[in-house]
Amino acid sequence: MATAVRTESMLLGRTGDHWPLPWLAEPLATARAFDRSHAMLIHGAAGVGHLEFAGLLAQAWLCEKPGQAPCGACGSCHLVSQRAHPDLHILVPDALRVALGWQGDDEGAGRSDAKPSREIRVDAVRQAIDWSHRTAGRGRGKALIIHPADQLNTASANALLKTLEEPAGGMRLWLTTTDPERLLPTVRSRCQRLHLGSPDPARARTWLQGRGLAHPEATLALAGGSPLLALELAAEGLDADWIGALPMAVARGDARPLLGRSVVRVVDVLFKLAHDLQVRSFGAPARFITAAKWPAPPSLDALAHWQRGLRRVARHDEHPWNAALLIESLVTQAASLWPRHDEAGTRGGRPSLHSNR
Ligand SMILES: [Zn+2]
Repeated sequence: MATAVRTESMLLGRTGDHWPLPWLAEPLATARAFDRSHAMLIHGAAGVGHLEFAGLLAQAWLCEKPGQAPCGACGSCHLVSQRAHPDLHILVPDALRVALGWQGDDEGAGRSDAKPSREIRVDAVRQAIDWSHRTAGRGRGKALIIHPADQLNTASANALLKTLEEPAGGMRLWLTTTDPERLLPTVRSRCQRLHLGSPDPARARTWLQGRGLAHPEATLALAGGSPLLALELAAEGLDADWIGALPMAVARGDARPLLGRSVVRVVDVLFKLAHDLQVRSFGAPARFITAAKWPAPPSLDALAHWQRGLRRVARHDEHPWNAALLIESLVTQAASLWPRHDEAGTRGGRPSLHSNR
């Protein structure tokens, strides 16, 4: 059954390719079977394909031959694949619209002077609500996707509440998030929830190999098992060699592997390194970082202090940081987890860092 289900990503605009995302077939069938509410909140780890999944659900809802999955052949499916369906509206932050190559779309027009927002703006929500009150172009009803819904700011979320409670003309809504707790409770409580899990590692590995990654294991682990995130990381050069060298580089205070990358990416990778240092100090295996060589376990107090620092930066990632200075400072803080003994007489004046295996 699964092989017959169409799971091409109609929405990834980056390359123009339509990639089949085979792990979405089973959740799609499940969601279609239980999709009774007018608003569904799709949640799960980043990089599994929330937007694509919401797109498939919306496409199936709009499809002229609806079944477990969109038929992929009718007029409605064709319009969705061209992102030209009059009854499908996809609400994303302007920054994501740019990243997806959708900036030619009318919603982002006229704002090219400003830095694209990472939040979903209230005027964009109001536009979507106005659109929902117009007559459906093809008669089936309207479909609104909000991705990611945790980027609705308070004003945007409040503007949406009435629509979420009682959508005009039987409209369906699909909201996505990696963390439902980041949504206002009033938004959360109005949605049926659906958890979108990561595919099993073998399936994800095979899929990544099909996308040209010969040895995707380490990158997939860094991505927490999420194939689309792994693909992004690989495109940024975060391969097995890079990942394997990271723990010792950070312990040495060497920020070079991280410089030139986005603050969001660096903070995410350092969080994962901190997590793995913590679990390794309890004798458990690392989860995200595949490395043969590790520094000695740091003190857990010092580690917790560093994690708090990372969290502070993560909360303010819209701040106009000087990225290079910030990254160097995060790595310097990390390196201070391992007090240097060189001044106290270690041979050659080198920091004393050992593998603890
Ligand atoms: Zn169709």
